[in-house]
Amino acid sequence: MAKQVVLMLWAPWSGKGTQSQYLMDAYGYIQISTGELLRERVKTPDELGKKLAEIMNAGALVPDELIVSMLEEQINKLNADNIIFDGFPRNEAQTVVFDTLLQKLGITKLIPIYLHVKEEELIRRLLNRAVLEGRSDDNEATITKRIQTFHTNTQPVIDHYAQHPNFIQVDGDDQPAEVVWEELKKKLNWQK
Ligand code: ADP
Repeated sequence: MAKQVVLMLWAPWSGKGTQSQYLMDAYGYIQISTGELLRERVKTPDELGKKLAEIMNAGALVPDELIVSMLEEQINKLNADNIIFDGFPRNEAQTVVFDTLLQKLGITKLIPIYLHVKEEELIRRLLNRAVLEGRSDDNEATITKRIQTFHTNTQPVIDHYAQHPNFIQVDGDDQPAEVVWEELKKKLNWQK
């Protein structure tokens, strides 16, 4: 298989974690999630850790340089051919960095995937996760801010990749994860 990258262009808590897992199991991708990397880093309570926690709890985006260096470090560590990027790129500047990164990695195929979920549904799911996982950035104020950040910063990224020839959109509203996965798999198989 050619070196491939899948981009998860999904809104917060759209169900991307579940679909990523299906993709990893079915096609052997390795996932890199910038949110996970950051949550790991925050566990070290030094100055940077505290600063990151503050930004994340405010529902804002962490500075691009920091994300990029964390990402490069992780890519080198994993040394994988087929990667799912979850949570990156998240703004237009990161899109530019991402194109350079793809060239550096010698990636020959990019598949941007967008799981569309209505905003009311997103808020409902995020609040539900707050109860289940107790993530400190899952309170109502932060959620509202994260959705705003998504509209301002990430929607242009989705619009950008919607022009890509391999772009896939799947509807994540009112559908169980398995049904979403079947639809996604069908669309992926058309491409392979
Ligand atoms: P969710 O899945 O709920 O969208 P993530 O786990 O992807 O959340 O990210 C959690 C937080 O980490 C974000 O709200 C943001 O503060 C920070 N973050 C994650 N990825 C990026 C990124 N690519 N650029 C800047 N900040 C990021």
